[in-house]
Amino acid sequence: MSLENLRQQVRGELEAPPGLRRFGSGWFSGVLGLILGIGGFFLVVSLRAPGQFSLPEVHALHGRAWFRIVIHVILLAAFVCSALSLALRRGKLLGTCGLVATLLAALLGGSRATALVPDPSPVFFGLDFFVLNVLFTGLLFVPIERLFAHRPDQPVFRDEWREDLFYYLVSSLLVQVLTLLTFVPAKTLLAVTHLDALRAWVGALPFVVQFIAIMFLTDLVQYWVHRAFHRFPALWRFHAVHHSARRMDWMAGARMHFLEILVLRATTVLPMFVLGFSSMAMNSYIFVVYLYSTFVHANLGWRFPWIEKLLVTPRFHHWHHGLEDEAVDVNFAVHFPLLDRLFGTYHLPKDRWPADYGVQGHPVPTGYLAQFKYPFRR
Ligand SMILES: [Zn+2]
Ligand SMILES: [Zn+2]
Repeated sequence: MSLENLRQQVRGELEAPPGLRRFGSGWFSGVLGLILGIGGFFLVVSLRAPGQFSLPEVHALHGRAWFRIVIHVILLAAFVCSALSLALRRGKLLGTCGLVATLLAALLGGSRATALVPDPSPVFFGLDFFVLNVLFTGLLFVPIERLFAHRPDQPVFRDEWREDLFYYLVSSLLVQVLTLLTFVPAKTLLAVTHLDALRAWVGALPFVVQFIAIMFLTDLVQYWVHRAFHRFPALWRFHAVHHSARRMDWMAGARMHFLEILVLRATTVLPMFVLGFSSMAMNSYIFVVYLYSTFVHANLGWRFPWIEKLLVTPRFHHWHHGLEDEAVDVNFAVHFPLLDRLFGTYHLPKDRWPADYGVQGHPVPTGYLAQFKYPFRR
């Protein structure tokens, strides 16, 4: 069996029709075993070459016993799930692949693996960040999406899930360059302005006030940058990539052109970084916005009758992604719908959801590389 053939067959298993995915078929254990096996393998690789494949914040945890236990539990769970799938499932592919990944991780040293390459290199790829990212958000959102789905018949491995997962991979691996470039404008602005008195005052405000102020200021900047991306054709070609998602779920939000990620982050961190908010408030906000942006794209049918007037919910942002005419250029805010009310772009019909998602005429090609090149094409 060629590698390409193997890949196609694994994909076929993951995207198996509902009848072959039902409880007791070994599908669920097989998928979990495969994901944990590959994730565990990547984590062990980052233990082996931390300078190259580990986020410095995660690298700092390598000496902690609990971190090693977490990796050990991941590998153990991968083994048990894969074995269970082998016992239950007629097709042995998922179980075998999960087992092979787990064994490779064990051969590399498993949870006790130590660094082979001691010198930290100046450039690293966030391989462990990718694994922790996907495992954390996936394990958090997939179960609640299954329980409270807006579209219950949309499977986890829906159309174009591989493309969206690849977006996760790229922005996690390139976290170093993204972070570095994100802060260039903010640091420059900070260096040329003299806001010491204001910064001291802002930094001394109560945490809750700082947090809400960051949320509001960031959303205000985000609103207008986002609106500009819709307004100007040259910018829209970049942002159209984000809107090309035709299925909404926890993975769909990751789809964003690399340059748009940079512009959006670099502009939204400006008020937060320059005005002198405490690092506690900034870090808390960064963590919350990371979950929040996943949440608003999620396939979640929850109704929040009066919360949705104050805070952006999945239904509000799903309307932003709607295919129909009434959904074009509405709901730009990501935290406070108030901004859309103020600036005349609010659209939240009572109890209705958009029928479909995407860009009218579907001009954006599929695939990461084609989408990367799309805005530059004549
Ligand atoms: Zn948009
Ligand atoms: Zn979106």
